[in-house]
Amino acid sequence: MAQLSDDCFAFGGPMMSVDEAVGIITSRVAAVKERETVALGEADGRVLACDVAAPLPLPPFTNSAVDGYAVQSRDLPQAKERAFPVTGRVAAGASAKAAQPGQAVRIFTGAPMPDGTDTVFMQEDVRIDEAGHVVLPAGLKPGANVRPAGEDVPQGRVALKAGQRLRPQDVALAAAFGLTQIEVVRRLRVAVFSTGDELASPGAPRAAAQLFDSNRFMLMAMLKRLGCEVSDLGILRDERAPLANALKQVAARHDLILTTGGVSTGEEDHVKAGVESAGTLVLWRMAIKPGRPVAMGIIGGTPFIGLPGNPVASFVTFVHVVRPTVLALSGAIATPLDPMPVRSAFSYRKKSGRREYVRVNLRKAPDGALEAVKFPREGAGLLSSLVDTNGLVELGETVTGVEPGETVGFLGYASLL
Ligand code: AMP
Ligand code: MG
Repeated sequence: MAQLSDDCFAFGGPMMSVDEAVGIITSRVAAVKERETVALGEADGRVLACDVAAPLPLPPFTNSAVDGYAVQSRDLPQAKERAFPVTGRVAAGASAKAAQPGQAVRIFTGAPMPDGTDTVFMQEDVRIDEAGHVVLPAGLKPGANVRPAGEDVPQGRVALKAGQRLRPQDVALAAAFGLTQIEVVRRLRVAVFSTGDELASPGAPRAAAQLFDSNRFMLMAMLKRLGCEVSDLGILRDERAPLANALKQVAARHDLILTTGGVSTGEEDHVKAGVESAGTLVLWRMAIKPGRPVAMGIIGGTPFIGLPGNPVASFVTFVHVVRPTVLALSGAIATPLDPMPVRSAFSYRKKSGRREYVRVNLRKAPDGALEAVKFPREGAGLLSSLVDTNGLVELGETVTGVEPGETVGFLGYASLL
């Protein structure tokens, strides 16, 4: 368990920028120490615990990149084509006999280059004459169509780095090294609660003034995509003492506690009071829309994050506060979210001094450029605005407006998790 100090999330200023928030998290949140070994088939999405150096070169032996005929480069026809006797045949997976000068060897893709050869003619570029010799054209470069041992990855190179979140291609590289298992950071255990008397769990009866709790399912799914093991702890009612007790109880068994709702500054916002009596709490008044505020706390050494209740605010603050916290706790290399430049198809006014996220769909304009089309409505409570769009346009703190045709930064939802 990563034990964080009670003042871990302390912050003095009146408003906090997104970059300040991410900076505090990345510099102060320590990673859990425990590691485990997993089979390659289970490694996708996990955080690599230590560097992996290539135990063998890739490819492991020099081989042909095409189906054709292998010869020695000293024999390459210079001015005009020349016929060679075909003295051998080597298929992929077979071992090759050495070839002599003046000879050609029939060879197939992936087959080892016979000793004495270093260049391969593609079968499409040659013909067989009446004597059964292969006629090779002039002009081929020495070494053509050959994949030298180690050209992909030389032996000993650090090919996968500690802190990397393994993707399918990373797992493939480990397999190419002949590894059967890999050491990863253990999964983070995250407790998730929704809070609020207005919420009913899907499947439970819903009173007239209640809505079904949707945020909890969104947050749990986002956490799972970040590789976490999630405890679904249901809904906490708006009552300080039971709330505080529930939080204290789960703290010991989890690496992170996440709640949604009840953290604004109104008298009906009970999470703040609950966390304050269970541990320490600081409200981050974040310069972000949709968003702010976000409650950050420490309960028995375990970090606590209280996200806003409005679904879109909850989503956006998850990306900027929970995501970096999860990455830091799991020892993952902090990957910045780099918006992709696209053309705005909308006009928009905003206040300077805060960062805003606009829900958009990308479309291809007649000139081929990608254009961001704004979702027509802006409310932070509109879950459909997240469902019916494919990403967010990020408008920085200094921006005061956007006009159609201007370049804006786009973050696709798929890139956020
Ligand atoms: P709060 O942050 O508690 O003031 O809630 C802001 C708005 O978000 C209110 O309209 C809540 O009903 C709504 N809300 C809070 N929690 C959830 C949830 N878990 N799922 C869906 N909506 C929620
Ligand atoms: Mg509430």
